[in-house]
Amino acid sequence: MSNRQTETDVILIGAGIMSATLGTLLKELAPDWKITVFEKLASAGEESSNEWNNAGTGHAALCELNYTAEKPDGSIDISKAIVVNEHFQVSMQFWSYLVNSNLIRNPQDFIMPLPHMSLVQGEKDVAFLKKRFETMSKNPLFQGMEFSDDPKKLMEWIPLIMKDRTSNEPIAATKMDSGTDVNFGALTRMLFEHLKTKNVDIHYKHSVDDIKRTGDGAWELKIKNASGTVERHKAKFVFIGGGGGSLPLLQKSGIPEGKHIGGFPISGLFMVCNNPKVVAQHHAKVYGKAKVGAPPMSVPHLDTRFIDNKKSLLFGPFAGFSPKFLKTGSMFDLIGSVKPNNLLTMLAAGAKNLGLTKYLIQQLMLSKEKRMEELREFIPNAKSEDWDMLVAGQRVQVIKDTPAGKGTLQFGTEVVSAADGSIAALLGASPGASTAVSVMLEVIEKCFPQHLKAWEPKIKEMIPSFGLQLVEHPELIHEIRTSTARTLGLKKLKSVM
Ligand SMILES: Cc1cc2nc3c(=O)[nH]c(=O)nc-3n(C[C@H](O)[C@H](O)[C@H](O)COP(=O)(O)OP(=O)(O)OC[C@H]3O[C@@H](n4cnc5c(N)ncnc54)[C@H](O)[C@@H]3O)c2cc1C
Repeated sequence: MSNRQTETDVILIGAGIMSATLGTLLKELAPDWKITVFEKLASAGEESSNEWNNAGTGHAALCELNYTAEKPDGSIDISKAIVVNEHFQVSMQFWSYLVNSNLIRNPQDFIMPLPHMSLVQGEKDVAFLKKRFETMSKNPLFQGMEFSDDPKKLMEWIPLIMKDRTSNEPIAATKMDSGTDVNFGALTRMLFEHLKTKNVDIHYKHSVDDIKRTGDGAWELKIKNASGTVERHKAKFVFIGGGGGSLPLLQKSGIPEGKHIGGFPISGLFMVCNNPKVVAQHHAKVYGKAKVGAPPMSVPHLDTRFIDNKKSLLFGPFAGFSPKFLKTGSMFDLIGSVKPNNLLTMLAAGAKNLGLTKYLIQQLMLSKEKRMEELREFIPNAKSEDWDMLVAGQRVQVIKDTPAGKGTLQFGTEVVSAADGSIAALLGASPGASTAVSVMLEVIEKCFPQHLKAWEPKIKEMIPSFGLQLVEHPELIHEIRTSTARTLGLKKLKSVM
């Protein structure tokens, strides 16, 4: 047993994009605060935030069909798409601030312009997409969206997908040139490099095993270090940014807000193209429609990616079932998360989601050839030898009791914090990394209300739209889009207003 002990203002658990973002925000708002980070792996951004573990979509609702639903009267509800887009604009503003202030450099190492497209087939879905386009393109956030059901035009936009297509079914797509591919792994590493220069103590190979409240209202963490000995570290504020590992730590904190919550792990798998000639023929993120019974995050998409200064092509993600909460987690994670206080919630969720569990297990069992069949719905002549399988990150979706019923599965992200704001955890993973800045601002608003008035001018300097709904300020949308595109080097962004 080591007797190493420290006391600090803030402890961030986990070195993923969420802790990286919160640490960076706090260092700008309260430069004198002492911040310490504990990460169980050997470096930053190795779990879900790693570039190969997620799809790298800058989720701005420009292509994801699951953010827009058809209402019973036939009209299209785009309210969720507006929220997702606004959150992404917040991230873009903060990243631009960091670049403009020279806190991070070379934005092209983490963000690249890339058209975002939605693609559907069949008369019914083409009619839906057209209606969706008509509704969205009238909204200032989505102006610039193009629609086409003309095979010639589509051949220009997506030659790899249109070539050798024999089906006579109607086909249509929308395209937004202002989409992005984001390397969240690179961004996470950049932010931790920056935090190091601001005297943030970052300890890798340090696994947080327990969290207990101390008599003076602070928190004491029991941490196993690289040599396996135990350390104890105290902080006034703790952020549990453990990704899939957050739920067990939240449970250990014992705060009432963390009770009656469970987690449902969903694994992911991508197909990666190993043939540069095929990779060169595609330049977009093309999102299709989710299969019946599939969870919303397993919408199939064919994505150009920019990783290590190289263009890649990924298809997926195929969802699957694994009881692990982290890619590097344990087979006992799921069972270990069942506690007396969430047992009924978990049982109710289990009973309700038998269909989903069956679907995920079936997905897990798919052979490579079966997965190729799904890929051929996008690339009709895709060859098996050109594609390899890649295990992606693990997501843990929140299960909780809601007005919709006991044990309801949630597909969003959720900040759970103690009433006194001394500890907060981030659960869930969708839309995920793209919304890191908004979600971490939510943590700040919930946990540091006493500082908000003093911090507001700085927050507005970093995020000019803070406190405003962009959709109600079209002139601000134009201004922000133009300036963030310039700063982040997204030169291909067409002027949209
Ligand atoms: C298949 C897939 C596709 C996705 N696609 C997208 C996308 O296209 N766009 C998008 O915006 N988002 C996407 N996401 C979601 C996004 O990846 C996550 O929301 C985001 O990376 C979560 O960041 P995080 O910092 O919370 O977690 P992580 O990046 O997982 O980091 C958590 C860290 O905490 C550490 N940790 C855990 N427990 C402990 C402990 N006890 N002690 C110390 N350290 C601990 C872990 O080792 C890890 O490094 C996707 C996710 C998946 C799985």
